[in-house]
Amino acid sequence: MTLRRLVGCKECDAVTLTRVAIGHSDYQEFAFPCPKCGIEIRFGMTINQESPAVEYTLLKNGEWLANDIPSQFELRFDSENLYSRGAEQMMPFLETVFLAKDVEQSRSRFGRQFSAVRTGWPAIEKMLTHEANGGRSPQR
Ligand SMILES: [Zn+2]
Repeated sequence: MTLRRLVGCKECDAVTLTRVAIGHSDYQEFAFPCPKCGIEIRFGMTINQESPAVEYTLLKNGEWLANDIPSQFELRFDSENLYSRGAEQMMPFLETVFLAKDVEQSRSRFGRQFSAVRTGWPAIEKMLTHEANGGRSPQR
């Protein structure tokens, strides 16, 4: 999921469109030099992974703007994937998905992760519930 939000620089009023990929952590923070004047603009997002819900909880040297204002600049942010700063505005996932050095190893690693999530996690959740109930069986 990618969120788009406009930020205005408090120093020079430059308008930058931020495009942020939502990662798997509860909080992510990004900083960038204003494309026009160079002052650091920093923002943070608190993410509730269960809802899911995102709240912008930090903003330094900028102000959030309404979405109908034209932007002069556009920047992408991703806390989990590396990507180039080139002129192309491809999504970081699409830009990196085929860059694995060893495709078979990468496929195997992701397969193990997905398998663990599908088969292991439900059992772990049951154990956690059992532990939270003080080790007693559920009442019927
Ligand atoms: Zn600026």
